[in-house]
Amino acid sequence: MSPPATGRTGTNRALVLNATFEPLGIVSSRRALLLVLATRAELLHAAEGVFRAEKVAFPEPSVVRLSRYVRVPHNRTVAVNRRTVFARDGHRCQYCDGAAESIDHVVPRSRGGLHAWDNVVAACRRCNTRKEDRLPHEVGLVLRSAPVAPRQRVWLLAMSGGARDDWVPYLEEKSLIA
Ligand SMILES: [Zn+2]
Repeated sequence: MSPPATGRTGTNRALVLNATFEPLGIVSSRRALLLVLATRAELLHAAEGVFRAEKVAFPEPSVVRLSRYVRVPHNRTVAVNRRTVFARDGHRCQYCDGAAESIDHVVPRSRGGLHAWDNVVAACRRCNTRKEDRLPHEVGLVLRSAPVAPRQRVWLLAMSGGARDDWVPYLEEKSLIA
C-alpha cells in the first residue's frame, strides 16, 4: 500500500514499542501509520492529527506496538554531544544546578580527558568559565553526581527532542541511567 496523503499533520513522531512493550525507537508518525496499516504494529495511542487518503482518514499514531518481538542488541551507543548530554543531565549545570549552557569536560581535553559519557557534563557558562582547563577540585567545584553513559537510547532520543505525554508511561518502565 502506498503512503496515504498527509492531512494537516504528518511531521510528528511516534514511539515504537516492542511486542513486550519495551520502547524500541522513534519514527515519523507517517512511518508508524504504515506499520499499522501493514498489520505489523497495533495503534496504542493516537495524536491529535489525521492522515487523509481519498475518502478515508487515519488517526495519526503517537504510540504503536509491534505485533512480533524484535531482538535488539544491547550495546548500541549514544553519541556524546550537547543535545544528548543536556538531555541526560536534565538541562542543569552539574556543578551548581543552574541552567545548562555548555558542555564541560571534567578532565579537560588539554589534560588527556576523553570526549566520552563519563567525562562530559552539562554546565552553566559561569562554572565552565571558572573551571577552564583545570580539574573541578582545583577550583572548588564539586560534581553533583558522577557522569555515566545512559542505557536507554530511546529515552535519550525522546527527552532530547521532547517526549509526548502519552509516551511517558512507557519510557518510565526502565531505569533511565545505567
Ligand atoms: Zn554552574
